[in-house]
Amino acid sequence: MTEENFLETKNVALQGTHCVNGSGLGVVIQTGDRTVFGLIAKLSSAETKRLTTLQRELYRFVGIIAGMATIVATIIVILWAAWLRRTFPSYINVSNLLIDVVSVMVAFIPEGLPVAVTLSLAKVASRLGKHKVLCKSLSIVETLGSVNVLCSDKTGTLTQNIMHVENVAVLDVVFDSKDYPSTVSSSSSDVAANLSQIIAAASICNTAVFDAGTGSNDEKKERVIVGNATDVAILKFANSVASVDETRHRWEEVFRMNFNSKTKFMLILSKLAPSVSPDDGLVAPLASWDDFTPTSFLLTSKGAPEILLPRCSFVLNPEGGAPIPINSSICEKICAIQERWAGNGQRVLLLARRIIKGECFHNVDPHSEEFSALIEEYHRDLVIVGLVGLIDPLKPDIKDTVKICRRAGIRFFIITGDHPTTAVSIAGQAGIITDTTAIHHASDLVAPLGSKALSNDSDSDDHRLKGIVVTGPELQTFKPAQVEQLCQYEEIVFARTTPEQKLRIVNDFKSRGNVVAVTGDGVNDAPSLKAADCGIAMGQGSDVAREAADLVLLGDFSSIVIAIEFGRLVFDNLKKTVLYLLPAGSFSELMPILLNILFGLPQMLSNIQMIIICVATDVLPALSMCLEKPETGLLQRKPRNVKKDRLVNWKLLLQAYGFLGVLETLCAMSMSFWYLKRHGVPFSTLLLGFGNWPGLTDELLFTAQSVYFFTLVIMQWGNLFATRGRRLSIFQHTPASNWYVFPAAAMALVLAIFFSYVPWFQKVFQTRPIPVEYFFIPITFGLDLLFLDETRKYFVRAYPGSFIDRMAW
Ligand code: ADP
Ligand code: MG
Repeated sequence: MTEENFLETKNVALQGTHCVNGSGLGVVIQTGDRTVFGLIAKLSSAETKRLTTLQRELYRFVGIIAGMATIVATIIVILWAAWLRRTFPSYINVSNLLIDVVSVMVAFIPEGLPVAVTLSLAKVASRLGKHKVLCKSLSIVETLGSVNVLCSDKTGTLTQNIMHVENVAVLDVVFDSKDYPSTVSSSSSDVAANLSQIIAAASICNTAVFDAGTGSNDEKKERVIVGNATDVAILKFANSVASVDETRHRWEEVFRMNFNSKTKFMLILSKLAPSVSPDDGLVAPLASWDDFTPTSFLLTSKGAPEILLPRCSFVLNPEGGAPIPINSSICEKICAIQERWAGNGQRVLLLARRIIKGECFHNVDPHSEEFSALIEEYHRDLVIVGLVGLIDPLKPDIKDTVKICRRAGIRFFIITGDHPTTAVSIAGQAGIITDTTAIHHASDLVAPLGSKALSNDSDSDDHRLKGIVVTGPELQTFKPAQVEQLCQYEEIVFARTTPEQKLRIVNDFKSRGNVVAVTGDGVNDAPSLKAADCGIAMGQGSDVAREAADLVLLGDFSSIVIAIEFGRLVFDNLKKTVLYLLPAGSFSELMPILLNILFGLPQMLSNIQMIIICVATDVLPALSMCLEKPETGLLQRKPRNVKKDRLVNWKLLLQAYGFLGVLETLCAMSMSFWYLKRHGVPFSTLLLGFGNWPGLTDELLFTAQSVYFFTLVIMQWGNLFATRGRRLSIFQHTPASNWYVFPAAAMALVLAIFFSYVPWFQKVFQTRPIPVEYFFIPITFGLDLLFLDETRKYFVRAYPGSFIDRMAW
């Protein structure tokens, strides 16, 4: 997607959620926003290369299977060329060799797997849909299950994004917002003139607007305000003291710089409206000491105190009269108020203003570069009109969600644009920082390279218990060793970050092998949502965030826990599915071909029967496995280590090929050779026959193949009931918890019968009916297989750490 497309999206987003523009000046998109969209555009172009954790596992599995198949096929070709072709020239000609090679491929590959994987993921996605979690791609659910680092935005994600002004301060005099209207009205006119300036500045320097459809004539109903949550809260507060409409009617906007997460302030340049006559007296926020003429401009600005303070030179006197020049003790007082409010979790904003002479902008086009440069020049020597402190309450379900995530082995971090103290306070309330008093700061990161804390395990565990808060600007100065040490912390709050820094943090954790999820709602979160292994947007968030995310939480934040649980279950169950599919669908299909080529025996399973097993009889039981309930508490264990806990590892292959596969093949072979023996063709006449099999008619061979086929289908029942429990026995993890296995197992046999008994299939597929005893004996084999695996599982449970336990899949 191009940057332009994103800019369009952004405009839509602004209309949808921020609704900035009431004045017809057009939305001014600032450089910060451009960077955000540039970043998203860059990331989305790289997106095709990004695989989900599940896709990586599946590709790896396909690689293993394809590798094994190729090796076996190559060996067969070599054997044929070097030996069979010379010794038994009539046994396998070139075209038969080709068929054999293709058969090896068909046999090896569990063709049912793609169907099983897709359907099981689709099932999970639809179940998550019921919990109001929208998955944009199917395999992303599993990623969420492997997440071990969760970076959450604060505002709108952890908090409700419904703010209200709690405190107001003019210089160092603090007022309760509720008492402010009465305080202003009861003050002397001199004092009131200064105290009310913050109200006027808050009304002008604000992008929120009253919704035209609601209210003004119906006094009882509150008027709906649209815009970003911060501005809405400030506008509401201002309107409670003095009519915002009146103030706004008197000023006309000339230029605006919207708030963005990079600059962290907004600014508006206004001039008096033509409707204001000189007899109207002083127009708020002007004061008698202002040097204001009708051609002058009023610059109002509002933003993070640390950003605006350096641009201010005066501060309003709460006792009335002219502004006071700022000195270091005043600065300290203001910072102390900010610190105090932030300590209670408040977002603190500073409001400032300045009068600019009309000549300064004489004849300069407000849309030109020159104008912006002038604004930058005059955006200093401001007068601080006051501070406001906003409270944004935590969402009610956050505390529990954080607790569950942390129990599930996920490190829960905050990445916010807000002030560090505010962020730590909110983190403390949410349980993200356990002890806010013992928190580390950037200065605690002094690790020289190869420090003890990093090399020694117990030390680093101790280290991990601690929390740390770092800011975006600090992060920028860190050396690699400090970043390394930072990434070891258990509890981290990143404050005052820009969208680029959010992105960098995500990439830092990703590059250290973590699986990172990001939750966010704002435009500023979009790049990190896109870059994360799993980006999760809030349903109420901006369109851009939802566009960039992989998952959208349409309901409560707590539904993330359900998604994590399902993600882990999907992985566990897919492992079972793969294990179920391999013994019959891979090993027992390959053996007849190998015996045929190496030992000159007739091929005991026809190629078409291999396909029937893979795409018909095995599919439903494999799918029923996807509906298995968890065996152990999924949220009590650590997330899977994506480097070590693979979908398919040698233990699983050992169980599939070395145990279940060997048993099934042995039993099926014995059954079909026993059938042939009973019909006058003993095994000894077949072995090393290489095409010279006296007495073996096509009819006998087809029936023997069907015997092999049915034995496999029935023994897969044993496999199904054995494999659905990984550690627990069938009595602990009873099939009653997933009754789908019964109809699925029955359907497997029904399908096998269907393909072997319908005359048309018999003719085309060369399948044959089998004598009834060849149904019942395999049932006992299946039970034996179940019994053997139960015994194995018993030893696994009873003797942890034993040889059998270590070999267990
Ligand atoms: P978050 O990452 O929590 O969503 P933001 O990037 O929205 O944070 O905000 C970062 C900082 O920018 C805030 O702490 C505040 O100081 C300032 N700020 C936020 N909203 C506005 C606004 N509407 N006008 C001016 N400044 C704002
Ligand atoms: Mg936000």
